Amino acid sequence: MDNCIFCKISQKEIPSHTVYEDEVVYAFLDISQVTPGHTLVIPKKHVMDIFAFDDSLAAEVFARIPKIARAIEAAFPEIEGLNIVNNNKELAYQSVFHSHIHLIPRYSKEDDFSMHFGNHTEEYTAEELAAIASNIRKQVR
Ligand code: AMP
Ligand code: ZN
Repeated sequence: MDNCIFCKISQKEIPSHTVYEDEVVYAFLDISQVTPGHTLVIPKKHVMDIFAFDDSLAAEVFARIPKIARAIEAAFPEIEGLNIVNNNKELAYQSVFHSHIHLIPRYSKEDDFSMHFGNHTEEYTAEELAAIASNIRKQVR
């Protein structure tokens, strides 16, 4: 797609540091290096976000994540964990609108990555949770 920085990166029109590449995905170092080894995995096909994947592209792209994760783990013996993050749309912190999966190695509680999971368990009855699940279930295609 014209004017997409990640299409240009995967087509080598813009330089990047390659981590892995095949016919389906391109994986490269995120320039921000939230933690050392922070890698982005992108489909070579331009898709904007998770909502735009069809089943077969999703299967092909996500099937490649574990081996890239294992390579990162093997390259940095001091890794203690790995966060996999995929931001979709601006409110959810997506800033490049070619879908990408962040692989963020974790070294300690003091490294430069954090995430907040609120806990609202006490605010829902079982019936309310059942209604929410049912509402979503009806939309699965
Ligand atoms: P997100 O905010 O989830 O859309 O993530 C976009 C990511 O792309 C950010 O973490 C940026 O650091 C990264 N990024 C933007 N431009 C480049 C580039 N030219 N090379 C590598 N990473 C980039
Ligand atoms: Zn693109």
